[in-house]
Order: sequence, then C-alpha cells, then structure tokens
Amino acid sequence: MAEEAHSLAIDPVVQEALHKANLTERDLSAVAVTIGPGLSLCLRVGVQKARKIAGQFNLPIVGVHHMEAHALVARLIEQDLRFPFLALLISGGHNLLVLAHNLGQYTQLGTTIDDAIGEAFDKTAKWLGLDMRRSGGPAVEKLALEGDAESVKFSTPMKQHKDCNFSYAGLKTQVRLAIESKNIDFRIPISSTSCQDRKSRANIAASFQVVSGGVASNKYVRARLDRAVKNNSLQLVCPPPSLCTDNGVMVAWTGIEHFCVGRFDPPPPADDPEDFMYDLRPRWPLGEEFAEGRSEAR
Ligand code: ATP
Ligand code: FE
Repeated sequence: MAEEAHSLAIDPVVQEALHKANLTERDLSAVAVTIGPGLSLCLRVGVQKARKIAGQFNLPIVGVHHMEAHALVARLIEQDLRFPFLALLISGGHNLLVLAHNLGQYTQLGTTIDDAIGEAFDKTAKWLGLDMRRSGGPAVEKLALEGDAESVKFSTPMKQHKDCNFSYAGLKTQVRLAIESKNIDFRIPISSTSCQDRKSRANIAASFQVVSGGVASNKYVRARLDRAVKNNSLQLVCPPPSLCTDNGVMVAWTGIEHFCVGRFDPPPPADDPEDFMYDLRPRWPLGEEFAEGRSEAR
C-alpha cells in the first residue's frame, strides 16, 4: 500500500513543486533524492523518478540520507550554523542525539533503546481517540493545552541512566494504564465524548507531554531546549515546524550541500537498463560509511 501511494503521488508532487517554484526541469542543476534509511519499496519509487528526470535532462544525482537531511535543514534556516554542532533528531522512527562533525560525518551519542518518541505520540493520540488523519503529535499537542500537566504522574524515562540514550516503551505502557484506569474508550472519538471524559483525556495528553517533551515541531520541547541552551551559553537552532516533519526542502538542501563539495553521481543514461542496480540503503545508520555491494536490483 505504501509503495502504491508513493507511485500515485510522485508525478503530481514533482509537477506541483516545479510549478509552485515557477521552474521547469530545464532550470535544475542537479536532482537530490533520499536513498535511505526507510522502506525500500518507497525509496525505489523516489530513486526511479529522480533517475528518470536526471537521465532525461542530463543532470547529476545526489543520494541523500533522510536523517542527515533532518539535521542539515538547520543550516538552511541559520546560515551561520557551522560544524561541529549537536543535533537532536526526534521523529516518527528515530530518536537520535548526534554530533555533526561535517557533511556525512556524524557520531551517534544516543539513540532509543526501544520506541522513538513519535511512536509514543502517535499511540497516545490513538488511545485518546484523537483525529489521526495527519499524524498524532500535533493532535496531542493541541489537546494538551486544555489539560493539567500535573494531574497524572508519569515517571520520566531513563532518569537514573547516565548515558545519552532514550526509551519510550515504558512511558507508552504508563499512558495506556492511565487511560484504562479512567475507563476511556478510544473507539469513541474525542469529538463525541462528555465534557468530563474530554477533560480526563486532555489531562493525560498534558501530563504525557511534560515527561516526554515532544517531537521537534512541538512548542513544549522547543521551550525546554531553549532553557537548556541558555543555561550553557549555547545557541539553539530550531527549524520551523514545516521543515521539521518530512519535507522535500530538507532533501534538496542536503543535496545542495553535497553537490557544492563535489559529492554527486554523474547523469544516468536516459533509459536505465532493466538490470540496473539501484543504490538503495534501507538500513543506514547516520554517520556510517555504506558497505559496498548492498545495492538492490530493480
Ligand atoms: P523518521 O524521520 O524517523 O524516518 P518519519 O519520516 O516517519 O520518521 P517525520 O515526518 O520525520 O516522520 O515525523 C513524524 C512524527 O512527528 C510523527 O510521529 C508525529 O506524531 C510527530 N509530530 C509531528 N508534529 C508534532 C508535534 N507538534 N508534537 C509532537 N509530535 C509531532
Ligand atoms: Fe523523517
């Protein structure tokens, strides 16, 4: 289903992006495309499209790491942000604290030992009967504004650990138990519940946010990070929410960064041969050199 959704979306999305930018393919100087990490079926849809455009218009290709793109978009909005810097990447599938030394050079200081924080947000949203059409995080953040953050006591994950790792599976269980103890029925959407039930749900949302912070678009986590950097005379760079959740701009920008230092592949042939080996990297830890020979055949 994911592959089909990507295949249906890719042409109109590229057309719309070019149209909105008032450009045609002939105006481009290169094509940047995410090659990993992620579902290979979906990555392949993007890579095929990128190679098609690049082949047709004789453009070089830059293969991009999705999480590096999340990190580097900060350099688009803050031109003075120089290496090295510390990046906190909190998204749907990742929870990383990394030291960014240079383009393509990262040291992972911490990661999640179980779930990523976005997963905890999305599950919490589902159990609270929130509208999940976009994603769970923004819905939890909105409902939390109506609640009392002190009302439900959740314990802070990993508080006793002195390393930089994260863990959210236990918090998820705490949220589920709190929801069960309040007899909240997640099959009843929040729009159809009583006032009192709505208040209980908001209290859980607010208390959950306090412990877990939130994903990078979340205002609460931004405020807390802001305080942490001020206490240490550091500078905080937070891209706007539209550049935090997945977006094409961050991939294009990372492409530009690599392109400018000469890291790109030459234009592909106008028609890829049937047995062409795509350079897809479904599992690709940030900062790790990619071992040759793992590319996937079409
Ligand atoms: P990854 O980058 O790890 O591969 P992804 O690409 O699937 O994950 P992103 O678009 O990077 O996902 O992030 C989506 C996640 O961000 C979802 O879990 C969503 O609930 C969460 N999120 C979005 N906005 C907010 C917010 N305001 N508060 C909290 N969480 C949010
Ligand atoms: Fe992402």
